[in-house]
Amino acid sequence: MNKRRQVGLDVGGTAIKAGRIHPSGEIEAQLQIPLPKNGSGQDLLESMAEAASRLHVQDALGIGLPGLLNRQAGSIEICPNIAAIEGLALRDELARRLSIRPENVRLENDANAAALGEQWLGAARGSSDVLVVTLGTGIGGGLILGGELFLGQGLAGEIGHVKVRGKGRICGCGGIDCLETQASATAASRRARERNLPEAVPGDLELLTQEARLGPGPAAELLCEIGRDLGLGLSTAVCLLDLRQIVIGGGFSAAFDLLKPGIDSGIREGVWGERAGDIRVERAALGADAGWIGAARLVASPL
Ligand SMILES: [Zn+2]
Repeated sequence: MNKRRQVGLDVGGTAIKAGRIHPSGEIEAQLQIPLPKNGSGQDLLESMAEAASRLHVQDALGIGLPGLLNRQAGSIEICPNIAAIEGLALRDELARRLSIRPENVRLENDANAAALGEQWLGAARGSSDVLVVTLGTGIGGGLILGGELFLGQGLAGEIGHVKVRGKGRICGCGGIDCLETQASATAASRRARERNLPEAVPGDLELLTQEARLGPGPAAELLCEIGRDLGLGLSTAVCLLDLRQIVIGGGFSAAFDLLKPGIDSGIREGVWGERAGDIRVERAALGADAGWIGAARLVASPL
């Protein structure tokens, strides 16, 4: 591993989380910059460059972003949460503003970045084969195989779009009955509403989880059912890849303890033989820092 300064940015819908980390894994500095509401592409670039400068970026920068990347162009093609960023020459523009060589600016999908972060310093530390799931508004996934991030042709690990049993609901991707339509935080919110269960505002599941923690009842039952759907979806990855470890992060993983019994039963249902008992499903350890830490990891290996 080289000794370059590892600076990582995690660009989200409302803020940039960023930090600098020593190759040993020690966090040297971190910060958060709110993104201007309805900011232009130039505003976004400015905020990203500012975050990197404040962290004294030297010669390499890793960036995690929500959306569909064009790795060749160093841009992001589709980014529903930050539309102004679509089509911008992110890699080249940031390289120019920060006086870094363009090939030393690395972009990655945010779920993949989170997977790298968890594998480097989190719950999947040192694992050679693991699926890291980001459970939030949608469901993202990053796949580590043989110790490396596995990209396939660029879209590997998208566990949110495997199909599960459902009622013909159309997913944001255009598919029908994707796992995301049944087990994301958005789906949980909808399912709570369908049963007249408490839910403060759409997407805020705190009331639901609070009630579920009080003991057995409809709220706990619903979260168990959602967990089961999630487990069934995850079992497809287990069957295909013989994974023994799955790590679950993202905002909705705050309900991990309530989802876990269901997840385990979904996996038992979906995976044949004794293997089901050997599969560890754990909660992610780095919380909201996984993305920038993984983004920093992108620039850790010699380029
Ligand atoms: Zn989908």
